[in-house]
Amino acid sequence: MQPTILLFDVDGTLIDSTGTGRVALEDAFEALYARRDAISSFRLDGMTDPAIVRQGLQVIGADVSDAAITKVLDAYLARLEHHVANIPLERYRVHPGVRATIDRAHAAGHAVGLGTGNIVPGAKIKLSRVDLYERFDFGGFGSDAEDRPTLIRHGAERGAERLGLPLSRCRVVVIGDTPKDIAAAHAIGAQCLAVATGHFSVAELAQHGCMRAVEHLETEAAQNALFA
Ligand SMILES: [Mg+2]
Repeated sequence: MQPTILLFDVDGTLIDSTGTGRVALEDAFEALYARRDAISSFRLDGMTDPAIVRQGLQVIGADVSDAAITKVLDAYLARLEHHVANIPLERYRVHPGVRATIDRAHAAGHAVGLGTGNIVPGAKIKLSRVDLYERFDFGGFGSDAEDRPTLIRHGAERGAERLGLPLSRCRVVVIGDTPKDIAAAHAIGAQCLAVATGHFSVAELAQHGCMRAVEHLETEAAQNALFA
């Protein structure tokens, strides 16, 4: 099998954090700008954290700068930690097949990483709650780039380093739950396995030309796409 790099998205793909990220961002905008509604007019799924904050600042007519974005994200992290720590685990779900797929990918010698719009500490907070963060050896994050194709490329390059191979010799598979994951994968010449565990159906995801769209990672089709 061709050397393989897997880049897993976080929200909607690995876990359902039941809106803790959104609430923490709303809290941050409320604390800093008294505008809880800053991010209520657009869809967050598939967006990177810095892109969400930039758009929120634009919506409320605030000054948009790298410093302002960083300030909101710092306020967000403190609140995220609190919300994630306090949500009951029965409401904070790991999607079907996730743990077994990660185990199988490590056993197969794949490079197992993240490809997520979350900034690094946000991904760590969200995934550590369910003991998943340490299962990933590297990643591309919202901390690397505001646009998704660029952060996915960073993740792919780190995966190739892990394998000790040039990226051109590796198969890269992005596993994600939104059309933005699919577009980012295609932008860097990677494949995308789309999972309907977020807010998009198999039919909706399939329209965007992914290699395979599946209900969840436990399906035979998903396993074949990653390991056959
Ligand atoms: Mg997602």
